[in-house]
Amino acid sequence: MNNENSRHLYDLAVQHIPGGVNSPVRAFKGVGGNPLFFKAGQDAYLIDADDNRYVDYVGAFGPLILGHCHEDVVAALRNQLQQGLAFGASTEAEVQIAEKICELMPSIEKVRLVTSGTEATMSAIRVARGYTGRDAIVKFEGCYHGHVDGLLVKAGSGALTLGDPDSLGVPKAYTDLTHVLPYNDTAALESFFAVNGDDIACVIVEPVAGNMNCVPPVPGFLEALREHCTKHGAVLIFDEVMTGFRVALGGAQSLYKIEPDLTTIGKVIGGGLPVGAFGGKTEIMELIAPLGGVYQAGTLAGSPLAVAAGLAMLNVISKPGFFDELAARTTTLLNGLQERANQAGIPFTTNQVGAMFGCFFTEKKPVSHFSQVMSCDTERFKHYFHSMLDNGVYLAPSAFEAGFVSSAHGDKEIQLTLDAAEKAFASLPK
Ligand SMILES: *Cc1c(COP(=O)(O)O)cnc(C)c1O
Repeated sequence: MNNENSRHLYDLAVQHIPGGVNSPVRAFKGVGGNPLFFKAGQDAYLIDADDNRYVDYVGAFGPLILGHCHEDVVAALRNQLQQGLAFGASTEAEVQIAEKICELMPSIEKVRLVTSGTEATMSAIRVARGYTGRDAIVKFEGCYHGHVDGLLVKAGSGALTLGDPDSLGVPKAYTDLTHVLPYNDTAALESFFAVNGDDIACVIVEPVAGNMNCVPPVPGFLEALREHCTKHGAVLIFDEVMTGFRVALGGAQSLYKIEPDLTTIGKVIGGGLPVGAFGGKTEIMELIAPLGGVYQAGTLAGSPLAVAAGLAMLNVISKPGFFDELAARTTTLLNGLQERANQAGIPFTTNQVGAMFGCFFTEKKPVSHFSQVMSCDTERFKHYFHSMLDNGVYLAPSAFEAGFVSSAHGDKEIQLTLDAAEKAFASLPK
């Protein structure tokens, strides 16, 4: 495969951009080699700077549930371009998207738009602290909630790939207030709450962990979280930046039937444009300025372009059967991968929740704990990644990222992926 243009662009990029990338997860540090540069996306495909085509399972790390350049999203954007890009004041479309979000996720009674997932989690934690008058927070090992200072403790995603879980530049005093518990460990949760419960402002959790690959909650885990937060007056925050409008129309909270107090969303809600949101109980949300004393603001929050893209996308995915079909396609893909791995004698297993999935090179299944994820064979993954790339399939360049299927992935793309996987598994070192 010719990568000459990508290589040239990378050489130029490193001269003026740290590591040549604007987000560390785009680097190839976890798999070796140089990152590719892309010039276009079409439906389920990415086209790189050398005109190579790949079936895309990254989907911009989650947002592109309709694939690239869905006609409705593009039309909505084109229309908005002629109306204006930003007003620094309210628009009708903001009212419409807020109404739609509250309808699709009924635990959200009031919602505020921001411009990234990081901002959403940062703001949700601030309002939870303001509401409870408490400082301490709880997060889980391997969960990633954006690059908020106090949340960069044992975080997933790029922080895991880089083998550098805690960041320089975060004062110890900021993370002293952050307790970290093991994900999917109900017993640890119970003993922690028995001692510290009344000091906790909030618990933030990915209801399906998607930043240590894809790890669904074990039965009882989210239920226990809900119970202990209620009992001790702590705010339960579901970080659905990845899972919202992805694992089901109503997010993970609809799938597992647990009602959080606050929810953060992002990724899919922007249809590919930068947007995030946080919302929940009226009683908590009305503490935010201008109504209350918790300050939160954003110059471009509720960007007309982002909202137009988001509304168009929400209309498409709200159609009956959309998520059933997407989940069925994802299952077909994963069954096919498993079959081919078995044939090649490669220890391999997968996790799936809706249109989100994880692949693991391991004998131990199911994968439901952080330590299991960390003990998977990352060397095998590196070989697999490059072999898939050579055969026209673009996976996230890390063993710790979830994969995403879009509605643009049809039978043809799945077959192409399975053919590539057959070659990839056969080429792996035994
Ligand atoms: C991606 C992600 C974030 C951060 O969102 P950004 O838009 O990258 O700031 C937060 N939480 C979860 C669960 C995510 O997957």
